[in-house]
Amino acid sequence: MLFKQITMNNEIEKRICPYCGVEFIPKRSNQTFCNSACRTAHHNKRNNAKRKELAKLFKPIEKQYYALLELLNGEKEVTVHKEYLRGIGVNFSLFTHIHYNKTINKNCYALHTVHYYKVDKEHYKICTND
Ligand SMILES: [Zn+2]
Repeated sequence: MLFKQITMNNEIEKRICPYCGVEFIPKRSNQTFCNSACRTAHHNKRNNAKRKELAKLFKPIEKQYYALLELLNGEKEVTVHKEYLRGIGVNFSLFTHIHYNKTINKNCYALHTVHYYKVDKEHYKICTND
């Protein structure tokens, strides 16, 4: 059934498509866009913007996570000098959560499954155990 909204002034309701700006007569009461192509384009544009924002947030975390994994090279733990870590771009204020390490009874900085903590003034231990 074709829907035609009649306005108070006895005119057929017209709407403006938020994507292309063209005026159209809605075929359904809940129609926002002039056609399905505009609806899809509008949602793609919005989702692409969201994806880009999320990438900005997660790229540095992802990079650091893989840098730490590479240092571990399959081992459960490795001790590394802080300057070496800085040299490969490790940012000590970047982590996803605090991990409580039961083996040492200490909180560690964690990125997903990899965590690290300071062992002395110069060194950090990176681990995946516990
Ligand atoms: Zn349109």
